[in-house]
Order: sequence, then C-alpha cells, then structure tokens
Amino acid sequence: MSNLESLVRKNIAALKPYVCARHEFQGAASAYLDANENPYNSPRNRYPDPLQVDLKGAIAQLKHVRPTQIMVGNGSDEPIDLVYRIFCEPRTDNVVAINPTYGMYEVAADINDVEYRKVLLNSDFSVDAHRLLAATDAHTKVIWLCSPNNPTGNALNRGEILKILTQFTGIVVIDEAYSDFSAEKSWLDDLDHYPHLIVLHTFSKAWGLAALRCGLAFASEKIIAYFNKVKYPYNVSDLTQLAVLEQLSGGDKFKNEWVKQILDEKAKLTEALKTLPAVQHIYPSDANFLLVKVPDATQIYNDLCQKGVIVRNRTSLALCDNCIRITVGTPAENAELLNALKI
Ligand SMILES: *Cc1c(COP(=O)(O)O)cnc(C)c1O
Repeated sequence: MSNLESLVRKNIAALKPYVCARHEFQGAASAYLDANENPYNSPRNRYPDPLQVDLKGAIAQLKHVRPTQIMVGNGSDEPIDLVYRIFCEPRTDNVVAINPTYGMYEVAADINDVEYRKVLLNSDFSVDAHRLLAATDAHTKVIWLCSPNNPTGNALNRGEILKILTQFTGIVVIDEAYSDFSAEKSWLDDLDHYPHLIVLHTFSKAWGLAALRCGLAFASEKIIAYFNKVKYPYNVSDLTQLAVLEQLSGGDKFKNEWVKQILDEKAKLTEALKTLPAVQHIYPSDANFLLVKVPDATQIYNDLCQKGVIVRNRTSLALCDNCIRITVGTPAENAELLNALKI
C-alpha cells in the first residue's frame, strides 16, 4: 500500500480549508454574533452543523462504525465528485471502472477532466479483477466498483473485489447504494483492514428518503479528513439532518419492512414477467430493480411511456442491448406495468 498522502493532489494536501465561524467555538452560548445571521426567524436563521455531529452519532450506531469514519454528503453524488477533486489531477491522472455501471462516475470524471477507463464486465455481468488491474497504470488513482451493480442488478463477487483491494495501491470505491436489498455482506465491516477503501451508502433507495439528498461515504479517518477539508462547509441542510435523524430514531425497522415488501414484490413481478411474450430474459437481481431483455427496448419504452408507465431504457449501454430497467414499485404500480406490457 502506498501512503495516502502520495495519492492526494498536491493543491489539496496544501489546502488551507475555509473555517466556519462556529468551528472555533464548541458548546452553548448566550449570544451568537459570529456568523452574520439574522437573529430573528428561529430556528431556520442559524447555519446547520457543518460536521453533522448528531447525525453521524446515529449513523455510527446503525452501521457499527466510528463517527470519524463517516462523511455525510448532499446525496452520494457529492462524495463521488469529491473523490475526483481530492485524488485526481485533471489531464494527468485516470480512474478505472467496471462497464456498464452507474453513470455518475463517468460524468463526474468528465466534469473534472479526468480520464475514465471502462473495463467490460463478463457477459454474465460478473467482474474480472485481473482485467481491471491490467487497465491501471502509474497514474490510476481510483477503481470504481458498484455492488449490487446498477443497471445490471448483480452483486459483484467478493473474491474478485478482494483481489482488487489487496493488489491495487490506489483508492477503491465500492458503491453499495443497493446493499440493503442484497444477501451479500457489506464491505463496511472490512473498513479497518483497508485504509484505501471508500464505501458509499445512501438514504435514497431502501430508506425511502431520496427527496432529502443524503448520501454517505465511509472510509479511514485520514480519507474522511480530506473529504471534510474539500466539501462545502454547510453541505447538508438543517432540514435534511433533522429529517434523517428523525427517521433513524425509529431504528431500521421501517426500512427492513420496506425491503422485505419490495423483495417479495420483486419475486412476484419476476414470475409474472416470465409469462409475457415480450420478455426474453430477466437477469438475476440483488437490488430493487430488474434488468429485462426485450425484442425492441426503445419501442417498448416509448409504448410504456404513452401508457404512463416510466421505466429506464438501457439499450445504449454496453452488454445491455435491448434491455429495460424496471424499478420494483407498489403492487398497484407493478400490476399497471404488467397490464401495459400485455396489451
Ligand atoms: C441511486 C444510486 C445512488 C444514490 O445517489 P444519491 O445521490 O445518494 O441519491 C448511488 N449510487 C448508485 C449506483 C445508484 O444507483
């Protein structure tokens, strides 16, 4: 393992971060005259906690990690972008990613002017560690993995991920946005063994809180310190922090109940789809969606749109020729989809 400092961009290592007014003072005061806030319109007049201390306390309990191993972001998209800004020198460094996968890794690379190297998954969507490693060179700072993967739905093989974690000396990101739906163990439990590992979770999927924009990066204390240095000071609003805390005060029983219901509904939807002539193949899914091969994805997508049922046409992605991605909805929504596919 190379040391972390050698992976960080020089300007970021040298950066003097913005210091929030309230950073300098901890505790309760009788007069807050430090941040040029309006003294009226309480409580919305005050800046939110820049380090989300209460929220991280609750997340640490839930996920069995230390609060110092957590970065709370404006959705997962924020830590995805920050990984480039912290580690990747534009026009010099590169990253390697599985293909197909979540589109934001490539968009964020393009925005940051960082070369994005795609390595095709096997035809059954399994990952080949050897090929990913072969695509790296001295300027590769990051390998992007997503498990269960979007849009293919499958969890990636642990042994292959392990090869990457032990053989690659740069940053390895494992995006586990869908791990709540999967029987596979989370890599969060292995955080202490791999100081260059970043695991992404989100409140947008299983937790049903996509509107709040709250994503999480878990990593070593050193990596989290860089996230804190580079992120916008007040990146997560007070409303979001309070609403997520309120959801977490009930533990994860609602989330677990929703996951059970969605998985149950996924099994029923799979069986029903299998009987339709328009369905050629349903790929195995460890997530809350199904990737389905049809004769003409664009025609079926347009046809469903006209009937008010919106799915995702994934035909332009590698290995996803004529595939649509269907999110598992409520029983009524799924029935509507099946109906629309029949006629
Ligand atoms: C939906 C999704 C996310 C979540 O993004 P947020 O910005 O947290 O809403 C992250 N990664 C993948 C692979 C996703 O499909």
